[in-house]
Amino acid sequence: MALTMLASSSGFDSRIAAAAAPATATAGTAATVNSPTPEASAPKVERGTLPKGFVYVDEVIPSALYDIRYYSEENFIGTQIDGYEAPLAILTTEAANALKKVNEDLESQGYRLKIIDAYRPQKAVNHFIAWSKDPKDTLMKEIFYPDVDKKNLFKSGYLSSKSGHSRGSTVDVTMVFKRTGEEVDMGSRVDFLGPISSHGTDLINKEQRKHRYILKTAMVKQSFKPYTKEWWHYTLKNEPFPSTYFNFDVK
Ligand SMILES: [Zn+2]
Repeated sequence: MALTMLASSSGFDSRIAAAAAPATATAGTAATVNSPTPEASAPKVERGTLPKGFVYVDEVIPSALYDIRYYSEENFIGTQIDGYEAPLAILTTEAANALKKVNEDLESQGYRLKIIDAYRPQKAVNHFIAWSKDPKDTLMKEIFYPDVDKKNLFKSGYLSSKSGHSRGSTVDVTMVFKRTGEEVDMGSRVDFLGPISSHGTDLINKEQRKHRYILKTAMVKQSFKPYTKEWWHYTLKNEPFPSTYFNFDVK
């Protein structure tokens, strides 16, 4: 309920309400979410000037869907995250170009990408860290981390003081059906922190396993590296800024 209430101030009302609806289902399995049509997805907002080497992903991949959840309240903290000033996906040129090829590959198979997060400023990661230190703030626990003790999110590898996302070549992605824009069932929602989100988990069914495999195969083919614990998280190999953690706002 909290999610739906919060959604009214977000500008993503219908999308979040739709996402909130299945949240009462069995934890971690509520991945099928009704999405807006692909055409309606590319965020029409004013843009700033990006640092050299970075691009707006929707300008490179206009046919993908965009649902930048750290700009909304639909995330594991339940508030808009610091540094997200617009619902935009930003990546290095190299990562965006590789991701474009992933999307083409998926489109040839009847799917397309939905991008949940891309470049993430260090200040957003700092927001996660500050949140993790308040044990009483468990607003979204039931939806995103019902089985993990909040104080173990760092130890378990779900949170870290630095994120590959801040280097600009890491993305969180899922798939939608090309025809309907509806999210494909991947067995757990993006950012669900628990064993069901691991590659190789046996907590998911055959169909969900197949979907993860299709995404992973397409990503790996374009030189993205998977992360064992999160089926949605990929980093470009040979990323252009392997040791720089950027802090400019998403806008
Ligand atoms: Zn990620």
